[in-house]
Amino acid sequence: MVVLPVKKGAVNIKPSKIVAVGRNYLAHAEEMGSSVPEKPVLFLKPPSAIIGPNSTIILPPQSRRVEHEVELAVIIGKKAKNVEIDSVMNYVYGYTIILDITARDLQAEAKKKGLPWSVSKGFDTFAPIGPRIVPRDDIDPSSLHIWLKVNGELRQDGNTKDMIFSVPFLVSYISKIMTLEPGDIIATGTPAGVGPLENGDFVEAGIDGIGTLKERVKRI
Ligand code: MG
Repeated sequence: MVVLPVKKGAVNIKPSKIVAVGRNYLAHAEEMGSSVPEKPVLFLKPPSAIIGPNSTIILPPQSRRVEHEVELAVIIGKKAKNVEIDSVMNYVYGYTIILDITARDLQAEAKKKGLPWSVSKGFDTFAPIGPRIVPRDDIDPSSLHIWLKVNGELRQDGNTKDMIFSVPFLVSYISKIMTLEPGDIIATGTPAGVGPLENGDFVEAGIDGIGTLKERVKRI
C-alpha cells in the first residue's frame, strides 16, 4: 500500500481508477508524430501499477523500450458526476506527481494495429506517485514548472501552462463520461522530452510546490 504525506498527516492512495490523458502538450504530440487532439485522449491505468516514492520501477521482459513521462496528478476529493467547469475545483482534493511509465515498443505495435494501449501502460510499477499531496488551494495548476532527470541529466523541462486541455476542463470532461470517486487520480499528460529508462537508472521528477519524486529502475 502507498501512503503519501499531506499537510496534517497522511493518506492511503487507493484509487478506483487512474484516468490518464494522452497528448496534452503540443510539443509532446509533435515528438510522437501524433496529431493534436480536438478532444482529450483518455486511457486508464490500473491502480495495481502504483508505487510510492523511493521505490523501484521494474522493466518487464516483454518490452525492450520503456520510457518515462512526468505528469501533474490531480487527486479527486469528492464524488464527481457531470460537473460543470465553474464548480469543478470543489471536487479536487489536491495534486501530486505521477510518472506514466510506458512500454513504448508495445504501444507503437498496438497503435500500428489499431489496438488498445493498455498492455504498454499497465505493468506493475508503471505508476509511481508522490512524494506528497499538496492541497488544492496551495498551488495553481495552470502554471507550474514540471521536469524530469535521469541520472542527473535533464530530460523533460516544461510548464503546465502549455497543456492543451486545462485541469478544470479535464476534470469536468471526464466527470461527464465516468463518475470520479474520492481518491481517483487524473494523470494530465506529459511535456516533451520522453525517453528510455535502463537498468540501474535513477529518476528524479519535480513539480513546483510539490517536491521531487525519486525512483530507481531495475530490469528483471
Ligand atoms: Mg502520459
